[in-house]
Amino acid sequence: MKKKMLAIYFDGNAKVTDRDVPVPNRQEALVRMQYAGICNTDLEILEGYMSFKGIPGHEFVGVVAESPWDKSLVGKRVVGEINISCGQCHFCRSGLDRHCPDRQVLGISGKDGAFAEFLTLPISNLHEVPENVSDGMAVFTEPLAAAMEILEQVDIPKESTVAVLGDGKLGILVAQVMKIKTDYVVCFGHQKNKLAILNDMGIETSLENPGWDAKYNFVVDCTGVPEGLRTALRAVRPRGTVVAKSTYHGEITLDFAQPVVHEITIVGSRCGSFPPALEALSHGEVRVEALIREVIPLSRGQEALALAGNPESLKVLLHNNT
Ligand SMILES: [Zn+2]
Ligand SMILES: [Zn+2]
Repeated sequence: MKKKMLAIYFDGNAKVTDRDVPVPNRQEALVRMQYAGICNTDLEILEGYMSFKGIPGHEFVGVVAESPWDKSLVGKRVVGEINISCGQCHFCRSGLDRHCPDRQVLGISGKDGAFAEFLTLPISNLHEVPENVSDGMAVFTEPLAAAMEILEQVDIPKESTVAVLGDGKLGILVAQVMKIKTDYVVCFGHQKNKLAILNDMGIETSLENPGWDAKYNFVVDCTGVPEGLRTALRAVRPRGTVVAKSTYHGEITLDFAQPVVHEITIVGSRCGSFPPALEALSHGEVRVEALIREVIPLSRGQEALALAGNPESLKVLLHNNT
């Protein structure tokens, strides 16, 4: 087993450098990264979000290289849940382990991530990838799980009208997930090439902003900008639900009388569990490969990060070609 590996390391600047191959501890396995996806959270980390220092990256598919605690995992193709919880606290014991106050988060908080040849994760975080799901699909499991988390939180009856705000990677995944539940889905965005992906799947899109006509039972904000939440509150029906999917750092100003008067439910939504996402990929309910903009070797990591930062880009993947 090699001792050194290539990785993108961030300590105020991101650079491709040699790091020690991590050693699995605490019921962990060592995973050889095959593909890793660059997401907006990674770009925010490079701007100082979470004050993270280390190897970023939390979306990956790989192969188990070493697994001292469960040897049967070696050679298995896996994806991994990103929250590493303590397993003991009140939250963990009541099934809210993704909200454990002592958790580490892969490539985001206290734990080196997937922009490297190898990473470690507890074996309980790993999920084997079904055979009919390619590596290029499986690398979307984490963001798809985040999109599908909405279905765990909110019941969406069949005839509901749903607006998805934002045509980034998350918006495109969320629109497809909403479409599983109802035919009346519209995705609002500004970039024709991205909306065209949804049109190809039979999902309605609009280049206009939704008006003030309070039409939708559900509005999901995936814009990544504070204005998105304000727009969502205007577009939702009285007694409707706004799902806030974007995290912003900094505060946001809202006229809060409006959601009170209209009796709006606002639901915050973050990560989701992996098995439903793997199932949706395996059954072809959601198509993700059209989202791939480019695959770039890990050794050219800086170039990949710069490309992912271009607002026109869809998903940029790092490939472990070592
Ligand atoms: Zn992400
Ligand atoms: Zn805990």
